[in-house]
Amino acid sequence: MPNGTIALFHDDRMLAHEPNVDVPFLPGRLDRRIREILAGLNAQWKYPEHPGRLRAVMDLLSAQPIPGLTTETGRPATREELGRVHTTHYLDFIEDLRDKNAWLDVDTTAVSTGSVLAAEVAAGTALAAVESVIEGRYRHAFALVRPPGHHAEPVRARGFCLFNNVAVAAAHARSELGCERVMILDWDAHHGNGTQDIFWADPDVMFIDIHRAAPFYPGSGLMEEVGVGMAEGSTVNVPLPGGSGDVAYLKAMREIVAPAADAFRPDIILVSAGFDTHWYDLALNVSYEGMSVMTEIIQSVAERHCDGRLVFVLEGGYNLESLSHGVHTVLRTLAGERFPEPGAAGVAEVEAAARFHRNAFLDPDQE
Ligand SMILES: [Zn+2]
Repeated sequence: MPNGTIALFHDDRMLAHEPNVDVPFLPGRLDRRIREILAGLNAQWKYPEHPGRLRAVMDLLSAQPIPGLTTETGRPATREELGRVHTTHYLDFIEDLRDKNAWLDVDTTAVSTGSVLAAEVAAGTALAAVESVIEGRYRHAFALVRPPGHHAEPVRARGFCLFNNVAVAAAHARSELGCERVMILDWDAHHGNGTQDIFWADPDVMFIDIHRAAPFYPGSGLMEEVGVGMAEGSTVNVPLPGGSGDVAYLKAMREIVAPAADAFRPDIILVSAGFDTHWYDLALNVSYEGMSVMTEIIQSVAERHCDGRLVFVLEGGYNLESLSHGVHTVLRTLAGERFPEPGAAGVAEVEAAARFHRNAFLDPDQE
């Protein structure tokens, strides 16, 4: 296998998930409730998780191609594959919404006529990425998917998520691809409540989540949430205050994620990669350099324990500029490019300015 080869998995069928507030939705109590919420907003509301997110990433990649990056298409996940993490009842409920417009949750999760297939393709594209890495066709892979997945629970769609893509991929790696232990690192700004819920009692899937602390959405992910029974300790939450940036994230990567992985010895590492940690998304304060060094750290963990097997699955990130440049930065890092270690923003510049202005402060008589 050519060392360092990487692939981006993308599939245009995911663009058909396009909830539009201006069209009629399935009538009922939830529709009335959401209309009330939207009417209470001062501004015109648009569905924030829209097809333009993937287009922005693909546009930047065609304008600034990354040497060594191959693009592949995904596939729809089967009912059996989805059924490893979602209940039959839930899969039936989603199936009934095929070709309809409907609200699924008061947090404004919705489906449009193309959404069910798009969600099946999102989960299946994560599966295709994992398969390619296990089969040794690529060293690392990135599944560029939407709708995102990490808020989706076994029985419930939430937070713009229908199927839990990363969980479907982890379950597939365990049941079909020969992996005993799977580690999921979730560095989206929001806690991956659905992924935590799915593997809460499973000691063979380690779930580590760095996120902005409750009451930030979805309100879970307290440090004390560590899993149960045989799985106690295999859920690791790192809640951070709003505005946390590179220094905090890199410290969490080095002092929590890396040692946890060293103890767990995963056979593959999946990253629930959200890009809403960038300051353009207004919740946290991570830079592109920070994202790159975080990628480098998890890449070296993967080299140490599982022959480099590392798969990124897109979660959130709603500012198109920071989403596209964030994904681009991670892909460049996976391809071998190295970025400088970021410090606390501005400190190096203040030190340089202090040196620059120093003479202005000195009393000439004392020189
Ligand atoms: Zn998020």
